[in-house]
Amino acid sequence: MHPPAVISARGARRWHGGHPWVFRSDVVQPPDSPPGAVAVRDQQGRSLGWALWSPASEISLRLLDRDPDALIGEGWWHARIAHAIARREPLAAHANAYRLVHGEGDGLPSLVADRFDRWVVVQLLSAGLEAFRDEITESIRSLTGAEGVLARNDASVRAREGLARLVEPLWGDVPQEIEVREHGVRYLAAPHTGQKTGAFLDQRENRVLAGSIAKGSALDVFSYHGSFALHLARNAADVTAVDSSAEALERASENVALNGFKNVSLVQADAFEFLREREKAGARYGTIVLDPPAFAKNKASLEGAMRGYRDVNLHAMRLLETGGLLFTASCSYHVSKALFLEMLQEAAAAAGRRMILRRITTQPLDHPEVITIPETGYLKGALLEAAD
Ligand code: SAH
Repeated sequence: MHPPAVISARGARRWHGGHPWVFRSDVVQPPDSPPGAVAVRDQQGRSLGWALWSPASEISLRLLDRDPDALIGEGWWHARIAHAIARREPLAAHANAYRLVHGEGDGLPSLVADRFDRWVVVQLLSAGLEAFRDEITESIRSLTGAEGVLARNDASVRAREGLARLVEPLWGDVPQEIEVREHGVRYLAAPHTGQKTGAFLDQRENRVLAGSIAKGSALDVFSYHGSFALHLARNAADVTAVDSSAEALERASENVALNGFKNVSLVQADAFEFLREREKAGARYGTIVLDPPAFAKNKASLEGAMRGYRDVNLHAMRLLETGGLLFTASCSYHVSKALFLEMLQEAAAAAGRRMILRRITTQPLDHPEVITIPETGYLKGALLEAAD
């Protein structure tokens, strides 16, 4: 039995406040053990529970269990993962791809697992977690019956943990392309090479929302593989999907064909320029979706990012016909819900449109945002209507 990690009063306060991380500066005495699960105490010697230990990381400890008697082994992982998977059961009726484990949001710090039909893609994002890769793989395999489990361990945060960045199978085989069914549309996910773990699963409910209210001529800006466009195509007269990446649009084109839609066209363009050009041409749309990439990658880039969000939203608002609808999102963690709404206010004012806020959207069931752990939340959206 290794001696436990000892953390400062500030570190302990963080845990008591419902946040699972302890930073390096709050570790008074690091555990003399390799990455894995370690017991944690405060400076008075009181047991605080068990945590994942990452010696190379700024986030040294991630709380697993407050019970000092917990046994962090196969059974523990199995029970926690089973609980997370059970929460998602209602989703299976309408979609075959969704997140099974959302890290800290599911009490499984630094673990991501996404289901794509009969396969699962995981990310092991800390050194402490990596020590349990066999237990985790086996639990996921036995709980889901997956035919293959792929590790998309190429995420950049792995470098900060002193871990190699690579994509490798953990169990069986995972195909290059997997057909996703999502509330009546189908699209191909690319688990080995696609963004995130192969698709933007976090926007599933927003795509359904946008599809359900779509009308007239519709725009899907920052369309990636066209997943919003597919939902829009069901109710809109026609849809234009815009993305700067030719590769993304190639996929979008396959997805349009897969669904047999004849009313979708694809445009390779810079979104900022495209929206301005359409405005100059006097175009008007009944529905617009804006789903930009995370413009704010860190705090330092926040100001520039806000300008970018304001710009695309302003021009999209100007392009709406009276009664037209805009669904707009931001997936930047650094853009808070408050900042997002403030940005929309400014955009509406600058656009000279009276915009009605019809709905604010948060993360879906499979991406739980724990209110005491801000890092579990990043995606926010709004549905707005141009009143006149
Ligand atoms: N809406 C998609 C996800 C969008 S991801 C979905 O639900 O699946 C963001 C997309 O924006 C990427 O495909 C990227 O190629 C594109 N992109 C980034 N910068 C852009 C720009 N300036 N103009 C147009 N597209 C851009």
